Amino acid sequence: MPTNNEFRIAVLPGDGIGVEVTEACQAVLAAVQKRVGGFALICESFDAGANCYQARGTDLPNETYRASEAADAILLGAMGLPDVRKTDGTEINPQLDLRFQLELYAGVRPIKSMKGVPSALADPRAADIDMVIIREQTEGLFIDIREPRPENDPEISDRCLITRAGTERVTDFTFKLAAKRNKAGAPRVTCVDKANVLHSMAFFRKVFDERAAGFPDIEADHAYIDALALNLVRKPWEYDVMVAENLLGDIISDLTAGLIGGMGLAPSADLGDDYGLFQPCHGTAPDIAGQGLANPVAMFLSAAMMLDWLADRHDHQPCRDAAEVLEAAVTDGFAAGDIRPAEFGGPHGTADITKAVMARI
Ligand code: ATP
Repeated sequence: MPTNNEFRIAVLPGDGIGVEVTEACQAVLAAVQKRVGGFALICESFDAGANCYQARGTDLPNETYRASEAADAILLGAMGLPDVRKTDGTEINPQLDLRFQLELYAGVRPIKSMKGVPSALADPRAADIDMVIIREQTEGLFIDIREPRPENDPEISDRCLITRAGTERVTDFTFKLAAKRNKAGAPRVTCVDKANVLHSMAFFRKVFDERAAGFPDIEADHAYIDALALNLVRKPWEYDVMVAENLLGDIISDLTAGLIGGMGLAPSADLGDDYGLFQPCHGTAPDIAGQGLANPVAMFLSAAMMLDWLADRHDHQPCRDAAEVLEAAVTDGFAAGDIRPAEFGGPHGTADITKAVMARI
């Protein structure tokens, strides 16, 4: 619990552009604290990720895990580098371990068009895109990722584990979130799956329907992942909130980030009942790392989600005000043309965007 309006934030910058956007974010968070007042974020950085694995032989040192557990919130940049791999060939991704170990079962990924950001779609209704994807993060097709595999087996398979308890908690979370949103029109939750083919996903849908009955004021909708892929390009403005198994949620969130401008705009929160971790949806982007080109906006919006979550959790108005100030600094900056990221052809790199957002704060 925070004392004296102080919140302890475990900061895990990670690798590649994760380090760059985290540094930018800390400057912006300092500015917003100064502007709003009434709270303090005590940020402490910890080692984790691919560079850490190379230097220390572990991608998630004990002290990093313990500090993450003890903090009021965790702020993470991005982790993993394509050239740094474990002996079984898999990439370094301790962020996945944190999701499993801290039971961060709901990956919350808001996708909202912003004025001033060029859209990938020509249809003017693309300006109305406003949805949230909830990705289940503790089971599904990721359940066996840490299972050792025999090296020379002629066959390798991955399980897709869907449990009743896991599906119930993420479905309830999704309906509660849908009820709180103030999007125009009646709230609707879409269950995304491949229930027409896969037994595990038919079970996911069945449990979803059972839980949906407990939320009669919210429309319960269904979509097969293949049909959804088509409709997300044809008419994404029709969707409100979605819930999906781990891998499907992963893919949908990259696709939908593309619809609103790119990975550098998509924030996320990994939430469980006891912990919250906040990170941009993008990875370490080695192709642009070290060049000052990373768009830090997804990181800034993730930090705004963190402030909002702290505000809800601790009934803390200054944190809520800070979240609003930070989000408005970003959206107003885009609308006024002050933020034009190199990510989609503009002249602005990390430093310019950070400066523009700080000036607005
Ligand atoms: P991962 O595989 O973990 O998702 P990645 O870096 O390979 O990580 P993405 O993060 O999905 O993949 O990014 C894909 C590409 O999008 C990057 O290679 C980069 O060119 C671009 N990109 C991603 N994030 C940003 C950003 N914040 N600013 C600018 N460009 C970005």
